[in-house]
Amino acid sequence: MATLKRRIMAPGPVEIPPETLIAAAAPGPHHRTREFRLALQEALAGLRRILDTTGPVMPLATSGTGAMEACVVSLFSPGEEVLVTVCGNFSQRWAEICEAYGLLVHRIESAWGEPVNVKELETKLKRHDTYAGVFTILSETSTGVENDIQGIGEAVARSRAILVVDGVSGIGALPFHMDAWHVDALAIGSQKALMVPPGLGLVALSAKARERLAGAKIPRYYLSLQKALKALEAEDLPDTPFTPPVSLILQLRESIRAIEREGLEKGWARQARLGNAVRAAVQAMNLKLLVGPGASNVLTAVDCEKGPDAKAVVKRLRDDWGISIVGGQGKLKGRIFRIGHVGYVDEVDVLGTIAAIEMVLRRLGWACTPGAGVAAAEAVFLAGDAPHA
Ligand SMILES: *Cc1c(COP(=O)(O)O)cnc(C)c1O
Repeated sequence: MATLKRRIMAPGPVEIPPETLIAAAAPGPHHRTREFRLALQEALAGLRRILDTTGPVMPLATSGTGAMEACVVSLFSPGEEVLVTVCGNFSQRWAEICEAYGLLVHRIESAWGEPVNVKELETKLKRHDTYAGVFTILSETSTGVENDIQGIGEAVARSRAILVVDGVSGIGALPFHMDAWHVDALAIGSQKALMVPPGLGLVALSAKARERLAGAKIPRYYLSLQKALKALEAEDLPDTPFTPPVSLILQLRESIRAIEREGLEKGWARQARLGNAVRAAVQAMNLKLLVGPGASNVLTAVDCEKGPDAKAVVKRLRDDWGISIVGGQGKLKGRIFRIGHVGYVDEVDVLGTIAAIEMVLRRLGWACTPGAGVAAAEAVFLAGDAPHA
């Protein structure tokens, strides 16, 4: 082959299924037509099923961070106290956005690689019920941790605060029940587990969050959820206040159809299998997992503090085998590499990636038994009730 076959094994942007790619290739309808608004309605109804919510979901022409910012500017007023659970680079972003808009930010810090301590959060909320909001994250993509949103939601529901969750990388891949878990505002991005190209942000709101919209005083215009909600609900078909990313919404509709064809629970189970297999393979290759309890099934971080050169692994995997994984962010830069197993990814993709990592490790002189990682992953796939048999 003249060029390497390219494979993405990163925690976003992920590989896009062919039907979803094709959905953007046909000439799309004008965004003010009934045809487009029906497509938007179908996509948003599908998302509500995925989120398990009866509340509104609004599309925004922005990336995941823009959806996060929309939650902050639309739901809060300058000077309000908020509590941010910081367990990595993306949850740290909540604190940065809140500070940029003049909120008084308190933090609960976890070591990077550990989940949010729900007990500590409970105690803090009991002692100090003055927070207008609690900000947390479903899947912390910088470390590969999944948080106990149900536990966090129960603690926050007893306080006056609303719970705002970054679900950018986890929604679609991990079990999630927005209403039952008392999540009040949720930010999502299109390019992670939803398997759509980047550029579409989405926000879902609870009834408790909606009550905040009228009184929120942070200046805002384009990212106003007030405007988005008004356009969404003004007529029987949904609309948007500004030109929506038409092709991305058509792709979202296609992707949700695919997710529901597989079955949401079956998709979650596949994610769990891939996560279990990668974690088993990492240990079999003599490498160390960054995350113990609370490991996310979206991606796996490998701690190279006493291991091979993390940057070299990422580079050689891409240069020699065409596979894109990613390195560390923030304070974990240079110390970890992260394998994404989310999006349009299956067991065979994981086996190929593990095999390629083994070959890279051997070229880098790292002591591991040839085939040990692949064998460990195969053992996971062969155990249980053979999903594809
Ligand atoms: C990717 C990601 C973001 C940022 O999304 P952008 O689309 O790059 O703005 C935020 N939070 C999490 C958890 C992510 O994985």
